Amino acid sequence: MEKIKTIALVAHDNRKKDLIEWVEWNYHVLINHSLICTGTTGKMVEDALHAKLKKEGKDFEFTITKLKSGPLGGDQQIGALIAEGKIDCLIFFWDPMEPHPHDVDVKALLRIAVVYNIPIACNRSTADFLISSPLMEQEYQPILNDYSEYVKRKIP
Ligand code: PGA
Repeated sequence: MEKIKTIALVAHDNRKKDLIEWVEWNYHVLINHSLICTGTTGKMVEDALHAKLKKEGKDFEFTITKLKSGPLGGDQQIGALIAEGKIDCLIFFWDPMEPHPHDVDVKALLRIAVVYNIPIACNRSTADFLISSPLMEQEYQPILNDYSEYVKRKIP
């Protein structure tokens, strides 16, 4: 990971308010990194950051990569980018109280983030610890499990 990180942000509908508040609180750190979001979350994060920048009189254009909406494949797109080493950390405020049509995608995303040992925050306090870590501003190499034996395994 470089000093400038690519941070993925995703929130389920009931958690979007929480995420936007967190983004507003931490916008001065977030604008130093590259952000990538599922569709609806991305639109809301972008609006919140633009409003903050405007309020502070900072007139630089900050762009966010917006993927498809989560249930339409956005979570899977983020998972694929993690597998390709293109996402450094994941802020994923998933809803613990409601089932979703894309629950399997949610599980897959969390799983692949663990496989590639990227930092994941699923609630605000973990996100606070993550964003305030000195490692956010440093190069960092996550240790990856060696899956070469698995790849070379004999198929009966
Ligand atoms: P959304 O997707 O940002 O497009 O709402 C999030 C999700 O439900 O995974």
